[in-house]
Amino acid sequence: MSIVPERPGRGLPDAPQAGSAPSRRDDTGGTLPVPDVACVICGQPVTFDQAVAYAAVRPTVSALLARDHPAWREGAWICRRDLDEYRRRYITELLTSAIGELGPLEREVIESITTGDLVTEVAGTAYDAQASFGERMADRMSAFGGSWGFILSFCAICTLWMILNVTGWLFVPFDPYPFILLNLALSTLAAIQAPIIIMSQRRLEAKDRLRAENDYQVNLKAELEVRQIHEKIDYQLTQHIARLERLEQLQAEVLARLH
Ligand SMILES: [Zn+2]
Repeated sequence: MSIVPERPGRGLPDAPQAGSAPSRRDDTGGTLPVPDVACVICGQPVTFDQAVAYAAVRPTVSALLARDHPAWREGAWICRRDLDEYRRRYITELLTSAIGELGPLEREVIESITTGDLVTEVAGTAYDAQASFGERMADRMSAFGGSWGFILSFCAICTLWMILNVTGWLFVPFDPYPFILLNLALSTLAAIQAPIIIMSQRRLEAKDRLRAENDYQVNLKAELEVRQIHEKIDYQLTQHIARLERLEQLQAEVLARLH
């Protein structure tokens, strides 16, 4: 298990593997037994499907690896766990150089890029779920207090109160003109309504803040991912062109020998 095979040339594997980075460079098409390779970072033997060749790592991450580990050069291999760790370090350094000190929001984004988890969430859902009974009541009362239904029913009750107390149709007037009891009821209602509305407003503000934070995280993650994809595509194109050039050279040499 701890065999460390000598790698010919640019880290080319000498046997085929399925679905791993080294398999792309395999040109034997044979079914030779697959030996393990050693990760130059942790020194542990790793199988090909858990290892990534030097040539398959982006130059930006590669430079970071070479800075910490001089053994990281052509023909070296790294295990996926260490590569993920170095990708995380690269993104952390990139963000730190761009925005300075990293906060919990940025750390969450880096964590989600490394683990592949989604950072998007339906903003405010969790916040609503943990609201107390009183807070939910405040939301509903504040929603009703700001509706036409409240204004119309309020006008209807006041008018009815005044008419009944002026005319004395149904009962002996208990609050004759100038309706002191009605005044007291109205000022009590206003006094209670104000803190309820403030409570509801504060909850709305907190929910808006959560939504803004989530938007920021999603944008930051998208920006970092797009940047990584750009780097990856540029790197692969460069490698592809270099490989084509080598093929052309070989072809020219073969043709020259034939003539
Ligand atoms: Zn390792």
